[in-house]
Amino acid sequence: MRVALEFLYHFCCDHCQRWWSQADVDPQPGDPLYCPYCGLQNRIERIDTFRNALRGSCLTRPPDAVSVESGEQRA
Ligand SMILES: [Zn+2]
Repeated sequence: MRVALEFLYHFCCDHCQRWWSQADVDPQPGDPLYCPYCGLQNRIERIDTFRNALRGSCLTRPPDAVSVESGEQRA
């Protein structure tokens, strides 16, 4: 059996709050990104993952990055 892993990123615009998803990209914190809806520029603050949180339940556990970086929330 062959297995494929896809990284699907979900983006939420800081300006209009709409969101979209995109695979086959490699976003990094600090990268600028234009919203496809309002056209305004965003800057990626951090990338939250649920890889470890999924071992429990992502409904009751926060994303991995939030638990690791707790106390480092940036406005
Ligand atoms: Zn927007």
